[in-house]
Amino acid sequence: MASISVAPVDRVFVLTGAGISAESGLPTFRAEDGLWAGYSVEDVCTPEAWKRDPAGVWAFYAARRAAGLKAEPNPGHIALARLEARLGDRFFLCTQNVDDLHERAGSVRLVHMHGELAKARCERECGRPPVEDRTIYRSLDEVGRCPCGGRLRPHIVFFGEIPLEMEHIEREIAKASLMVVVGTSGSVYPAANFVHWARQGGARTVYVGPEPPLNASAFTHVVEGKAGEVLSGLFQVR
Ligand code: NAD
Repeated sequence: MASISVAPVDRVFVLTGAGISAESGLPTFRAEDGLWAGYSVEDVCTPEAWKRDPAGVWAFYAARRAAGLKAEPNPGHIALARLEARLGDRFFLCTQNVDDLHERAGSVRLVHMHGELAKARCERECGRPPVEDRTIYRSLDEVGRCPCGGRLRPHIVFFGEIPLEMEHIEREIAKASLMVVVGTSGSVYPAANFVHWARQGGARTVYVGPEPPLNASAFTHVVEGKAGEVLSGLFQVR
């Protein structure tokens, strides 16, 4: 079994993708047929889709909310929360996932760069912050409005939109001496570039997943296996 040593001077940056939630029963993004849970990305996850068919976009995210509510954190999420509990401020987690399984496992120092399923925000970008919203909408008529009058949209970064918290993320990568990337295919940017930025800063870079990602050559170690089986025994904290 591989092991990664974490020294008292190390700062750890973790990036997770859909793969870490796979063992919780949430489907990953890139199915063989190019569909995500039976939908094409263009139909449900782009600004154009939102303009053309907001009811269809909400129907898709309502179904994702329902699935997310039923899912439970798995040993991979729990191992990362335990690592954070040991490292404190020397740990930072960036997830591409929109589920809340990291929080429910106990992670605290984390950002959701692609948004959060359990929130909604004004479609007019009026400046009001996202609001908690766990409603499983059955029709567009049920969807609320912002005080400014704009319709609420899912707090999700659609393809073609700029990910959230990028300056914060870049600062954390610059400080990291160890980057651990879990369960992401290395095909969605800018997240697929994080490993290159970390290498430029001299960090060790480790990938964990059942198969090498597209950007595998940028990692100093690739640990092949499922997150839920590998992560709990991976770190030797000194
Ligand atoms: P992806 O589907 O492109 O890649 C998933 C990766 O996970 C694959 O490389 C696969 O080998 C790996 N994997 C599968 N099972 C695993 C396991 N048990 N342990 C570890 N790795 C495993 O997903 P992506 O790279 O995250 O990018 C797609 C985008 O889809 C993300 O931006 C994300 O926002 C979104 N997404 C989120 C969720 C979620 O919130 N749970 C689910 C699906 C997609």
